Amino acid sequence: MADPDQSQHGEHLSYDLAPESRRLRRGCIEVVCGSMFSGKTEELLRRIKRAKLAKQRVQLFKPRVDNRYDDVKVVSHEGLNADAIPVSTAKELMSLARVEDTQVLGIDEVQFFDEDIIAATEELANGGVRVIVAGLDQDYRGLPFGPMPNLMSIAEYVTKLHAVCARCGAAACRSQRLVASEGQLFVGGAAAYEARCRRCFVAGVVSGA
Ligand code: ADP
Ligand code: MG
Ligand code: ZN
Repeated sequence: MADPDQSQHGEHLSYDLAPESRRLRRGCIEVVCGSMFSGKTEELLRRIKRAKLAKQRVQLFKPRVDNRYDDVKVVSHEGLNADAIPVSTAKELMSLARVEDTQVLGIDEVQFFDEDIIAATEELANGGVRVIVAGLDQDYRGLPFGPMPNLMSIAEYVTKLHAVCARCGAAACRSQRLVASEGQLFVGGAAAYEARCRRCFVAGVVSGA
């Protein structure tokens, strides 16, 4: 029989083995990454929902800068949603994380956090919390996004998802920015970005290309 403590599909599944005492719990870091529209938020919400079904105590966070759909909810492009706590910094997240109590802690759009999020997730996982983070692995130039490379390195499990290329239908790994705006931090939806494969992607901004 498969070891129930082993992950399947990059996800830690040992709900029933989680003891009440935090010191006895085994924490871990799971990263869900990929381009825009690849289903990162759907996957994060699926894991959070299953943890809640297992009657685990869950906290969900999001960066305050991402208010595309809602200020206090994590919302997928299809409209799936869950209540979330908006925070501006990793420090603020740590001040609101109930480490003594929370068993599963999710963070969406984690690429927007400062570098302190790396030590923060490590501290949470060391303290027995199952930390699930979702974020863009690449920015609009196709370059690694903020803290993502470090998070992927220290994680136990990494799941890389793909969207459908808006140009050719192949598996898309990149986010094409369609409107002129400088800087990594430009939050937009379907009007501002589209998913593209390596071949169709043009680094930087392309309008009407
Ligand atoms: P992410 O968080 O990775 O940006 P979401 O989980 O919010 O993605 O949304 C995924 C949903 O986006 C899909 O279920 C699908 O309905 C929709 N979608 C829109 N455009 C695309 C695309 N080009 N490829 C895949 N899914 C897409
Ligand atoms: Mg998302
Ligand atoms: Zn393509």
